[in-house]
Amino acid sequence: MAKKHALLGASSSARWLVCTPSARLEAMFPDEQSPYAAEGTVAHDLAEAILRHKLEGKKAPKLDDYSTEMIEAVNRYVDICEEKVNEARARSSDAEAMIEARLDFSRWVPEGFGTGDMVIVADGILEVIDLKYGKGVPVSAVENTQMRLYALGAYDVNEFLYDIKTVRMTIVQPRLDSVSTDEMSLEELLDWGEDIKPIAQRAWEGEGECTPCDYCNFCKARHTCRALADTCLDTFYKNGGKLNQLLTDREVSDILAMKDLITKWIKGVYDFAYEKALSGEKQWPGYKLVEGTSRRTITDPDAAAKTLLDNGYKEEDIFKPRELEGITNLQKVLGKKGVAEYLEAYIEKPEGKPTLVPESDKRPAINTVETMMNEFEDEV
Ligand code: SF4
Repeated sequence: MAKKHALLGASSSARWLVCTPSARLEAMFPDEQSPYAAEGTVAHDLAEAILRHKLEGKKAPKLDDYSTEMIEAVNRYVDICEEKVNEARARSSDAEAMIEARLDFSRWVPEGFGTGDMVIVADGILEVIDLKYGKGVPVSAVENTQMRLYALGAYDVNEFLYDIKTVRMTIVQPRLDSVSTDEMSLEELLDWGEDIKPIAQRAWEGEGECTPCDYCNFCKARHTCRALADTCLDTFYKNGGKLNQLLTDREVSDILAMKDLITKWIKGVYDFAYEKALSGEKQWPGYKLVEGTSRRTITDPDAAAKTLLDNGYKEEDIFKPRELEGITNLQKVLGKKGVAEYLEAYIEKPEGKPTLVPESDKRPAINTVETMMNEFEDEV
């Protein structure tokens, strides 16, 4: 059975706290299930089963169905949880660990609830730990609204049982070797909860201005959101709606700053329009579906190869050379340890191709040949 989602879910809170109408707008679109999300669900199920085995004495899960990479990654998260549970038990004999805890934060957010991967509560410290299986970008626990809402929910259910003073929130992203923790006093958390209450109420009612932000790319309304379209297109149409003849350096930089948003937006609009056209739901004015170019394929490669060999063609002429899988795929089979043990001697990491990034990027700037030549000329 599909999990029921709150309209104002914790995982989308960073979005609806900035763009309050987004939650109601998103509700008009069907759920999107990416392969990454499905993989994350499997990893969470495995993490839950291993933790229940280790902490509650339940039957150990069968690991045959999981990749080495997933088992290794989940075990790194499990180790961190176990360590934190042991610390809490050492501190307080009545410490409790809750796995996949339903957390109700509706005191602050209308009908708000979610699931905390791991909640550890003991006198003094309430701890919420979240597993993020993705390896796209590291997610920080610092000022993370999802973690704060989970912490509010965990506090709500435990406030009369434990004397909580400090709240600790940790995100474990094992495939990026990233563990990030934020800590605040209970008072600070409750103050934050009061601050967001009116914003959550506006989001519940679908009120406020649509406000494009970093989270638009995950919003289900993004393909037809007017505010996002205006933001992307405004980058090109400045000065009273007229294009300049030539862009200034500043305008080129402005466009670069919008590169990710605009490219994802355009691709998203195309994919959305394509799916609707394909399903027959829409006929877009000025557009039609046509048959694309296709490649010829061999339906029975074994029979085709036999025919060619029987007719005197050489193996080396008709077969592709065998090729070793890439490191990412090999790591799925061998795990990180296996790659380090067997392949380290054969792996090199060449210098990356220069990439134009914002100044805020943490990597040091590299000098181009031209700037080095200019510097050299200045020196002589
Ligand atoms: S796409 Fe962006 S601006 Fe539009 S509703 Fe979603 S979050 Fe708000």
